[in-house]
Amino acid sequence: MNSSEVLVVDKLVKYFPVKGGFWRRAHGQVRAVDGVSFTVQPCQVFGLVGESGSGKSTIGRLLVGLYRPTSGTITYRGKMQMVFQNPGSSLNPRRTVGKTLELPLRLHHKGLTRKELRQRVAELLTQVELNPEYANKLPRSLSGGQKQRVAIARALASDPKFIVLDEPTSALDVSVQAKIIKLILELKDQLQLSYLLISHDLSLMRNVADVTAVMYLGKIVEIAPTAELFANPAHPYTQVLLASIPVVSVEEEALKPTKRLVEGEIPSPLQIPQGCSFHTRCPEAMEICTRVAPELLTINPDHQVACHLHGKRGES
Ligand code: SF4
Repeated sequence: MNSSEVLVVDKLVKYFPVKGGFWRRAHGQVRAVDGVSFTVQPCQVFGLVGESGSGKSTIGRLLVGLYRPTSGTITYRGKMQMVFQNPGSSLNPRRTVGKTLELPLRLHHKGLTRKELRQRVAELLTQVELNPEYANKLPRSLSGGQKQRVAIARALASDPKFIVLDEPTSALDVSVQAKIIKLILELKDQLQLSYLLISHDLSLMRNVADVTAVMYLGKIVEIAPTAELFANPAHPYTQVLLASIPVVSVEEEALKPTKRLVEGEIPSPLQIPQGCSFHTRCPEAMEICTRVAPELLTINPDHQVACHLHGKRGES
C-alpha cells in the first residue's frame, strides 16, 4: 500500500458453503466474490454497481469485518465504518439517539467524562444537521431520513477515515435521498473521508462516484473514472445497464447505448457459467466466450474491462 492509498483490496474471494440434508453437509458453494482487486484514494468516492446477487454488498461486509475472506487481502489506513441500507433496522428501537451515539464514543474514546460525552453527542448531531435535542428521542419518533442521519453520526463517532455506504438512500423517499447524498458529500470534504458507495442505482453513481466498478456474478467486469465509464462504456453488460437508466431529455436519450440483454435470468451464483460468466445473456457473445474467462485488461488510462471484444479477440 503506498502513501496515496487508503484502501487496497487484492484478489478478494468469498465463497459461502451451501449446506443441506440431514447432516447439514456442504454440497456446493456460492461464489459471492471471486478475485476482486481495487484501490481507493484519499477523499475518493469509489462506486460498486451491479444487480442484486453481483457480490457488491458482500464486499462491503468483508471490508468492515462482518465476513472473513476465503482468500485475498484487505489493507486500509485508519478506522473503517459502515452505513447500512435500512436505518430502521440498524438502530436499536429501545435505545435513545444519545445512547446509540455514546456507545461507539465510549469504545473509541476511552476516558471521556459524562459532560464530554454529551458534548460530543451534540457535536455529532449538529454535524448531520439534527438538533442536539434529538439525543433524547427514540428511533420510532424519527423519520427515515432522520434515522439515516443518526446512522451516519454513529459511523462518524469513531473518527473513521473510510466509510462503506451500502445503498444508503434506497430505503428513503425520493425527496429525502438528495438531502442525504448532499450531507454525505459535505461530510466527505469537511472530514477528509473516503467512501465505498454500493448501489444498484447508476444515476446515483454518475452524480456521486469518482470511480465506478461494475460487478457481475462476483467479479469486476469494468472499472473506470465515472465520467469515462458513462461516456465510453466498453463492456456489453455496462452498456446494457446504461441503456436501462431513465432519461429526462431527448438529448440524453440520443446519447444512451441501445444494447439489450439476451432474454434470460441472471444465472444462480451456485452455477456460474463457464468462460465469460455473462455469455448466457450477452448480445455480443462469441464462441470463445463460452470457454475462456476474459481477464481485466487496460484499454485506456485507468479504464479496465474484462471482455474478449477488447484485447483478446481472435484467440482460440
Ligand atoms: Fe460478451 Fe464475450 Fe465480452 Fe463476455 S467476453 S461480455 S460474452 S463479448
